[in-house]
Amino acid sequence: MQEGRVIKAYNSFFYVLAAGQDGPEMVTCKLRGKFKKTRRSAGVVPGDLVRINRLPDGSGVVEEQLPRTSLLKRPAVANISQVVLTFAAAQPDLHPLLLNRFLVLAEWSGIPKIVICVNKKDLYAGDISDFLKDYEAIGYPVLRVSAEENEGIEALRQCLSGEVTVFAGPSGVGKSSLLNRIDESLALQTGHVSEKIKRGRHTTRVAELLSYGDGFIVDTPGFSAMELTELEIQELPGYFPEFRPYLSACRFAPCSHTHEPDCAIKQAVEAGCITKERYDAYVNIYEEIKENQKIA
Ligand code: GDP
Ligand code: ZN
Repeated sequence: MQEGRVIKAYNSFFYVLAAGQDGPEMVTCKLRGKFKKTRRSAGVVPGDLVRINRLPDGSGVVEEQLPRTSLLKRPAVANISQVVLTFAAAQPDLHPLLLNRFLVLAEWSGIPKIVICVNKKDLYAGDISDFLKDYEAIGYPVLRVSAEENEGIEALRQCLSGEVTVFAGPSGVGKSSLLNRIDESLALQTGHVSEKIKRGRHTTRVAELLSYGDGFIVDTPGFSAMELTELEIQELPGYFPEFRPYLSACRFAPCSHTHEPDCAIKQAVEAGCITKERYDAYVNIYEEIKENQKIA
């Protein structure tokens, strides 16, 4: 049996990049019946690591699905190791609340590495760098790049090495321009795929992994800031990494950290250990989720 990674899935065919004797080879595979998608499992999806058996005609059969480290649902992609949250310094402006919404979604998705990438460095004005330092202090790596002026691209390439990366972020921030800078063929491939998707809104959105060096880039928007409402409200504070050390010190348990007395989170904000900006984002997202739960 050969081990490989599902790169894309169309109809009932799975394209598996497998380790062959002369290096990686792409094998068109079918699934064993036992893997057919059910209501409870996503089945075999792009990103999955699998074991395949080869048939005399060169094609393959997926015999085994290896354990996953993460699963992004819409569209389904398994084993993403990193999300690059992409924003622009300006045009469109970087709104802290929007950045924080994306950070919460990224934490919620369980993807192990979260990187903030701020493009349009050429348009940087005034205090943006101080603003970003607060996020670096929380532990999020921040890349400052410009697709236009080809700046910071090497650092971005290095950050992709060996990872399965998804780029997420609002439209117009320069994600396609950055991919184009990283590698022209990547932009062509993503462009090709998005053309297909535009054709009709009933077309099922499928993800595809694009090989880049020893890693992969997933050609989906990752997630949109709209999906927050599906999050469990009790879990929200845990998605703010710098809140975690204080969470067991509130007088009330559970504490929403909004109105309760002797709240360790509010005390940490007053002491300057948590920024006001992050706390305000927390309250804002908390209220939004609560409002939605009332309606549902
Ligand atoms: P996407 O929607 O995130 O894929 O964004 P695009 O790559 O389509 O870029 C949106 C617009 O921003 C285009 O007009 C780009 O030319 C422009 N753009 C991209 N990168 C930069 C940059 O680094 N600086 C400036 N000034 N403009 C940029
Ligand atoms: Zn509290």
